[in-house]
This record gives sequence, structure tokens and C-alpha cells, in this order.
Amino acid sequence: MVFRSYMDIALEEARAAGERGEVPVGAVIVAPDGTVAARAGNRTRELNDPTAHAEILAIRAACAALGSERLPGHDLYVTLEPCPMCATAISAARIARLYYGAADPKSGGVAHGARIFSHRQCHHVPEVYDHIDAKPSEELLKAFFAERR
Ligand SMILES: [Zn+2]
Repeated sequence: MVFRSYMDIALEEARAAGERGEVPVGAVIVAPDGTVAARAGNRTRELNDPTAHAEILAIRAACAALGSERLPGHDLYVTLEPCPMCATAISAARIARLYYGAADPKSGGVAHGARIFSHRQCHHVPEVYDHIDAKPSEELLKAFFAERR
């Protein structure tokens, strides 16, 4: 099977989030058959919800659609390194593979900070692929924060 990246869809969600005034981060969950199970962008401001990160919203939607608290065999694409909260949710959801774009030295929880998947309390570790289309993700974030300074 040829690898097909779904990061372009995550980037679309990130752009849409930025246009809503949210931090531009987008995520997409792909089912084992290659169909898009859920896609989401950050909505923390809109929902007044600090947990409404793109990954959390996408996991909630995919689980609801599947009628399951777990998403075995599913892949998650996100434009930015997941924070510790999202990394924990990704593990709990039993996501098989995580693809992310830009590194997040400030708030990331995969390659930085809490490094959730390396912790011995982490019961499910997805395969992790970083730096997937990192450039456009970084540029979106840079432009967003430059505008707010
Ligand atoms: Zn997060």
C-alpha cells in the first residue's frame, strides 16, 4: 500500500481555526480503511473550553461516530506536536499511528516536556512520525502569533 499523507486536511483545519481567531492547529483521524473518521481545528475560545484542542475534538467525534471509546487501527494527523493532555488522550484512544508537523518545544508533550509516550505509566504507545509537512504548520503559527504582538 502506498503511503498517503492526510496532513493537507489537517492543515485546512488549522487554517480555518486561525480564521476563527483560534490558535491555528488542525487534526484529522483516519480509519483503517483510509476514510476520514473526523477532522477538527482548535475551538478553545469559541467553546470556552481549555480542553477543546484539535486532537481532543477529533477523537471525541471519531469515537462518537464509531460508538466506541477506542480507535484501534486509526491514524491521527495533527499540524503541531500534541500537548501532554492530547498525547494522553491519543494513548487512551489506542490510536495506532501519530503523524505530526511542527515541533512544540514550549507546550509539546511528545518529544518535549512530559514526553507522555516514554513514561512508564503510558499503557499504549502509538507509532510516532514527526516533522510531517512541518513548514506550513510552523508558518501558520508564526503568522498567527506575529499578528497578535
Ligand atoms: Zn493539546
